[in-house]
Amino acid sequence: MGNQKVIALVDCDSFFVSCEQKRNPELKGKPVCVLSNNDGCVISRSREAKKMGVRMGEPYFMCKKEHPKAIYITADHEYYSFVSHQVMSVLKDFSPLVQIYSVDEAFVDLTGLTKLYKRNYKNLAIYLRQRVLEEADIPVSIGVSSTKTLAKLASDKSKHITEGVYLIGKRKIERELKNTRIEEIWGIGRRLSVGLKKHGIITALELVKKDDKWLDKEIGIHGIEMKHELLGEMVSKVTNAEKLPKSIQNTKAFGIFTSDFNYIKNELNKHIHTSCRKLRSYNTKCMQIGVMLRTKDFRVFYTKKDLLTPLDFELEISNIAIKLLEEIYDPNILYRSTGVTLEKIGEQGFEQLSLYSDNTDIEKKAKLAQCFDKLESKFGKNIIKTGFYTKGNKTSQTQKK
Ligand SMILES: [Mg+2]
Repeated sequence: MGNQKVIALVDCDSFFVSCEQKRNPELKGKPVCVLSNNDGCVISRSREAKKMGVRMGEPYFMCKKEHPKAIYITADHEYYSFVSHQVMSVLKDFSPLVQIYSVDEAFVDLTGLTKLYKRNYKNLAIYLRQRVLEEADIPVSIGVSSTKTLAKLASDKSKHITEGVYLIGKRKIERELKNTRIEEIWGIGRRLSVGLKKHGIITALELVKKDDKWLDKEIGIHGIEMKHELLGEMVSKVTNAEKLPKSIQNTKAFGIFTSDFNYIKNELNKHIHTSCRKLRSYNTKCMQIGVMLRTKDFRVFYTKKDLLTPLDFELEISNIAIKLLEEIYDPNILYRSTGVTLEKIGEQGFEQLSLYSDNTDIEKKAKLAQCFDKLESKFGKNIIKTGFYTKGNKTSQTQKK
């Protein structure tokens, strides 16, 4: 591939189902469907479920009747994002330049790695695929080419190949574009494809034959960029810069209505733990903590506090959050939910250690937090709980929903 860049798009196969199969290997080779949170519809299918005829987005109540033998599992997005992190770690270990694109997709710059791994590009991709499978237990498909747009196209084609790897080299580009319908191109939505078809543009090859002026008029600058990417000329580079979350929020309705402060504290602590784990998975810390209480009749009380030092550790965040909770809590009110919001998020290490801060203490906490994450990766989420006794709180009242 000469002096050009070589970019891979690594895409996890039926990601949510694969995560469930990783957690419970007995599900491998079976018709498995993952359902959206409220068990509304099918959002991921195993190969066997696809063969059976289960459609993407099909409502559960219909599916259940049509395909009673399929196995239906409710989505656990928290676990999926944890597994995603494992997959991305393998990729980052493989190449210094990895751009996470979504929970189950990442661009990996392979340029020059042939020397390091002593393999040609095709075998490099096959090797990467094997490593993700061995180290994260998740099957992936890999498309390789000279631009992101072509790599994405190659990865779509790799799904239909047993070895799960597809390369579009320079000499293959024209033939590929001829065989690609415009709606298969990354970045062309339904509306745009309908508009282009009105101009007689059916294939990707017909699109790249249009001059820049025409593309600018019909699609805008994005159209020109797309053309160059499709011709193998890089416009969008692979960058390490990760989009950090602006804020992390966790809340969930109680099973009951309650004014029991210890119960509410326990629920809040669960959310804090979930949020901290996410914070650490991005290697970030937060500088602001917010706490929310929602009453039985849907009134919302919220308060927040700026921190002097960035935090990512649940016990410290909990200490502050519980004080905030005390500020907005009223023992005479029945509540339906509580939640935490972590804001002003930055990368770990962005804090300046004050002259007087105790570094050994900071290191100890970091180690403890790492232990939490390791234990959970081994034994499942929420194995660790920090809690308060809820018995003996005579003044509180609780109502069934
Ligand atoms: Mg995928």
